[in-house]
Amino acid sequence: MRGDRRAVARAISMVEDGSDGLAELSEAIYGSSGRAYTIGLTGSPGVGKSSLAEQLVRVARARDRTVAVLAIDPTSPFTGGALLGDRLRMQAHATDPNVFIRSMATRGHLGGMALAAPEAVRILDASGKDLVIVETVGVGQAEVEVATTADTTLVVVQPGWGDAVQAAKAGILEIADVFVVNKADREGAADVVRELKSMLRMGPRPAWEPPIVRTSTVTGEGIDDLWDAIEAHRGHLDQTGGLAERRRRRILEEVEGMVAERLRARTAGLLDGRAESALADDLAARRVDPYRAAEILLERLGDPSGTTGERDG
Ligand code: GDP
Repeated sequence: MRGDRRAVARAISMVEDGSDGLAELSEAIYGSSGRAYTIGLTGSPGVGKSSLAEQLVRVARARDRTVAVLAIDPTSPFTGGALLGDRLRMQAHATDPNVFIRSMATRGHLGGMALAAPEAVRILDASGKDLVIVETVGVGQAEVEVATTADTTLVVVQPGWGDAVQAAKAGILEIADVFVVNKADREGAADVVRELKSMLRMGPRPAWEPPIVRTSTVTGEGIDDLWDAIEAHRGHLDQTGGLAERRRRRILEEVEGMVAERLRARTAGLLDGRAESALADDLAARRVDPYRAAEILLERLGDPSGTTGERDG
């Protein structure tokens, strides 16, 4: 909580590994979290997410805000270190004590990235960073889930036929608070903006209409506009009470996920054990139907002695 870099790094490693001490860690830091503003960055590989993260770090520092970047790879337990090594452009900030950059994979966390990422974000938050940027590395369901845990979610696309269509297919249009058309220095940026606008018109009109910002991390075009768009969204959330509401909903969903995860683990335990071989026999012999079998197992989960519904012999 004093922002000691090594302590923060070790705490995040604990989250990655699903270490035993996580419950205590969570209890210790939770009261000190909730102060940082979080920004999610998602989009297909290569669209420029990490380049944009680097630019946002620069703007944040110019405005004297402290910032952490968490780059998330939900799919691979192996690329965590390599990713960080790749992020050479982040080295401009490597010696700045007010910037913390870290990539993350899950190695042992049972709940996967959906549960590990928010825990890691809380650690960065409790360490005193004003801003936490969460960057996802792919475009699967897990990435979408992680991106939606942010206060402001940026969906990044680039010029190229059908990129907006791809984004629509991946289900990431709905989660955007701000659209970023990056690589605006290239041809076709205006087309993507048009595609996005027409797709947005097809949906229902939301209270917050996500702005579309054109950026180039090469020329610097639009980076300040992007920052302004993020601030505008933040202002909207503050004004409407949406931030508190978002965070309440999010933490409940997280707890629900934790409960589901534990139930899953306990259900697996039930199915492993000797006790349900009788149930397996009943199912095989058509004495018990699957719905009833599920009921029996659920009753057993609620019964610490674990004997509910068990047949003799
Ligand atoms: P990520 O995979 O989404 O994180 O994308 P990166 O930030 O690693 O960028 C992918 C590639 O696109 C790199 O070669 C960048 O140098 C390049 N790139 C990023 N932003 C821009 C941009 O605004 N314009 C151009 N022309 N290239 C860019």
